[in-house]
Amino acid sequence: MVKKKFYITTAIDYVNAKPHCGHAFEKTLADALARYKRLQGYDVFFLTGVDENAQKNVEAAQKAGVPVKEFIDRNAGFFIELCKKLNISYDDFIRTTAKEHIIVVQRIIKKLIVHGDIYKSVYKGLYCIGCETYYTEKDLVNGKCPEHNTEPELREEEAYFFKLSKYKKELLKIIPKYVIPDSRKNEIISRVKKELNDICISRKGAKWGIDFPTDKDYKIWVWIDALINYISGLKNKEKKFWPADVHVVGKGINWFHAVIWPAILLSAGYKLPKELFVHGYLNIGGKKMSKSLGNALDPLELLEKYPSDSVRYSLLKCSIFDDSDYSEEILINRHNNELANKLGNLISRVSTLAETHGLKKTQNKLIKKLKIKEIESYINDYQFDKALSEIFAFIDQCNLYIQNKKPWEAGTKNKQEILYELSDSIKAIAILLYPFIPETSEKIAKQFNFNINYKEINKPLAIKPIKKSEILFKKIEINNKTEEKDKKENINKPEYNHKGKLMLKETVGVLSEGIATMNTINYNEWEKLDLRVGQIIKVEEIEGAGKLYKLEIDLGKHLGKRVICAGIKQHYKKDQLKNKKIILFTNLAPRIIKGIESKGMILAAVNEDESRIILISPEKDIELGSKIR
Ligand SMILES: [Zn+2]
Repeated sequence: MVKKKFYITTAIDYVNAKPHCGHAFEKTLADALARYKRLQGYDVFFLTGVDENAQKNVEAAQKAGVPVKEFIDRNAGFFIELCKKLNISYDDFIRTTAKEHIIVVQRIIKKLIVHGDIYKSVYKGLYCIGCETYYTEKDLVNGKCPEHNTEPELREEEAYFFKLSKYKKELLKIIPKYVIPDSRKNEIISRVKKELNDICISRKGAKWGIDFPTDKDYKIWVWIDALINYISGLKNKEKKFWPADVHVVGKGINWFHAVIWPAILLSAGYKLPKELFVHGYLNIGGKKMSKSLGNALDPLELLEKYPSDSVRYSLLKCSIFDDSDYSEEILINRHNNELANKLGNLISRVSTLAETHGLKKTQNKLIKKLKIKEIESYINDYQFDKALSEIFAFIDQCNLYIQNKKPWEAGTKNKQEILYELSDSIKAIAILLYPFIPETSEKIAKQFNFNINYKEINKPLAIKPIKKSEILFKKIEINNKTEEKDKKENINKPEYNHKGKLMLKETVGVLSEGIATMNTINYNEWEKLDLRVGQIIKVEEIEGAGKLYKLEIDLGKHLGKRVICAGIKQHYKKDQLKNKKIILFTNLAPRIIKGIESKGMILAAVNEDESRIILISPEKDIELGSKIR
């Protein structure tokens, strides 16, 4: 049978500086998808690379006092190194100064000319060198480029224009099926509807770049040259792989890909790419991370300090379509709390016990809790963060299972069967995690004796001896304050189990495990919250947990009773809590804390220096289950 093809690209990056974490984010997103498709049996071509023809590369080289070619080679090297260290499984890495690329660009420009879509006229406009593009007055924010916060320069020149406006109608038909997510799609549609002007595609007298094929006084506008990399990068595989199945790009270059690129392809007579996956930015200190803004976090430094899979995982857990906070601390927290505490812990416990007791085949009932269909649909919708949360929810279930079944105790029956169920579940986990953390998955596969192949998920694990594992993820110490910081920031902030996109962290702050405070919130979000009056009817200590109580809460006749874990042991004695009325967030996804399924969080206040947590208590005569409005 012929394998189905899948062609995926990232944007090509400017080489005016070393890569930042935004680059690492995009490459990891694309890599996860490429690996997932390969796992599913597709014949994948994955292209990434660098844009070497931009004027801003030249300016950066001059500033550094290094010859342009030398400067570009050096920086391109850093991008290649980044891909290598991040385990980016690209099939080709394109550099746009390559001869093969130049030939294809000129060939396509000639096609546009032949099709009557190029004409000469005078251009006058405001040009941002950072963006390598012209802006109109109304696109600017306080007279400055919205991307770079710098004033563009006024330029006037005779130039070649491309008849972009001619394609307005067709573009409006294409974009709705092409651009993902809806928010980005709608932005583009309304902009195209409002106004679509022809664009200048040449630069007179420029020293660097690709010659305009019919006029040596001009270079081709770098954006046209850059976009064509998606075709030239395929070389002799163009016939097989074009059109692209997905272009992965950041929101800042949505317009070029959603509008200009399809118009060029229509004019030149090429098939159109199928999907444009537009991701958000990573923020540091509330600002877009970028070289031009000087607040970049060096991914090569992170990759020196931390395992590749930990960097990948921490990036992939960022929200994909919206802007997302990222920092070294976030990386460490995700490594410690999810990779080490959950995944690492499961592998270590099961492999140690399996080495001692061995396995015996049985039907794996535990795996029914794994929501494969949901995971697949999240990945196909590019929501990798959600897919990972779902896989980790199953890891929680496995940890809970081992905790409840206690296969280490002498009196436990069917130890070998329990361990078989767990090992077989670990097989499914490792295969599903392969696109995201490939090195770790390969280690697990070797240890538990299976192959990484999508079909293996449903095949029962073959019984072979399992050896106790090395520690997969060593805990990272930040400093003495690690534990304190853990408490405040890294508690896995659950999402609403509604279909809504609302993330808990935006609305509800986590003071301590199981204890919440309200953050800024709008009316829409408020409506999604379900807060009820409850009463604590039982308080129990949890073995080995210095800060937690297990609480049973009565929510009245209709909602009944439920158990939560709450980190308030340092703030309340047991008898201070007994019979206390509280307010509970009831519609959060359950979490497993110390082997206990915790369903909800209690509303609390916190004093200025966050040293005291005070539960919010309603009046005594209010009915249990009453809704807070
Ligand atoms: Zn700009």
